Amino acid sequence: MHELSIAASIVEAVTDTVSQYPGARVKEVRLHVGALASVVEDSLQFCWEVSIEGTPLAGSNLVVKILPVLVHCAACGKQGELASLQSFRCPHCGELASDVRQGRELEIDSIEIDEVEEAV
Ligand SMILES: [Zn+2]
Repeated sequence: MHELSIAASIVEAVTDTVSQYPGARVKEVRLHVGALASVVEDSLQFCWEVSIEGTPLAGSNLVVKILPVLVHCAACGKQGELASLQSFRCPHCGELASDVRQGRELEIDSIEIDEVEEAV
């Protein structure tokens, strides 16, 4: 399951980041996912719950923002949002447009943490 490895790598990256804040607990992780990244959000949410067990992310929320696909059209020089993933046509002139400028993202947008008093 591809969502499981995605969830695992996000958890790993976030764990790395928050390790500089001892005792910090992650409240929320926001993701940007392109419409072409073929991520099933429900499945990713499920894998998230499994992957955060026993990590500093336990109990955190995963917020997924789906980014629409933007293509640049060589014929008319404009950039536009695809109306459907079924047809890669320029929304302005209808020519085939395969120059994808946005839509394949899979990245962490932000991480919200709760600072807990240092356990020294
Ligand atoms: Zn065009």
